[in-house]
Amino acid sequence: MTIKKNITPENRWQGRFGDAVEWIVLHYTGNPGDTAKGEAAYFASQYVGASAHFFVDTNEIWQSVELEDTAWHCGDAESRNGCHNTNSVGVEMCCTLRDGEYFIEDATVERVVELVRYLLTLYPGAKLCRHFDVTGKICPEPWVRAPVRWDVFCERVKEESMTREERKEFESLAARVGTLEQKARAGEEFDRIIKRTLDAVDARTAVRWRRAEDAPPWLRPTAEKLVSRGVLLGDGRGDLALTEGMARVLVVLDRAGGFDGTGR
Ligand SMILES: [Zn+2]
Repeated sequence: MTIKKNITPENRWQGRFGDAVEWIVLHYTGNPGDTAKGEAAYFASQYVGASAHFFVDTNEIWQSVELEDTAWHCGDAESRNGCHNTNSVGVEMCCTLRDGEYFIEDATVERVVELVRYLLTLYPGAKLCRHFDVTGKICPEPWVRAPVRWDVFCERVKEESMTREERKEFESLAARVGTLEQKARAGEEFDRIIKRTLDAVDARTAVRWRRAEDAPPWLRPTAEKLVSRGVLLGDGRGDLALTEGMARVLVVLDRAGGFDGTGR
């Protein structure tokens, strides 16, 4: 893990006024399409009246305030959990917009997991929280809108030391995030996938399958599931009459959870 530095001269306090680091606070920039480098350069270039120790994007980590100094990221007046600027490290995640909603790219989250694990080696007793948990500010917005993402992030941080039970719990949490994503993106995106899939199939050369057992490996689990549930009936004479185009659509729907009651 490489941490690059562009320390802001103005947007910080020197030292921590005797406080120890007890919290690591996660934020998002709310500035879609930004980069960690660009954010650090901005905060280094002028007085902003705000700051964070780190900015993280899909590629890089940039440090803007030294760890022994106080960054201005979560306020000092009101605190719901006892976290203040002076006893915390602030980590800002760059973001993007997807379908009109803020999104923190998976690669950014991965990088933040790495950074937070490193910070926990420096401050072993420190707790994690969102800016939201300190002041109620909707930050990081995607992790307030879908708190399960926050849960998954916290689990990811401690993943290496997970017991088998914890890992199972984590995997089910991660699956829930997947389900939320599907629900959020169902509709238009789903229709686009189906249309693209259909367009890609040449109906004239389409293969047909009569029975689920005859289907190739990529299709078989879906075909068997649908036959056993009575969803796929065929022509009533034991012939599924499944063309390649239909088959591909059914597999796409199945993989998106469309037959598990989690899709649209
Ligand atoms: Zn924030």
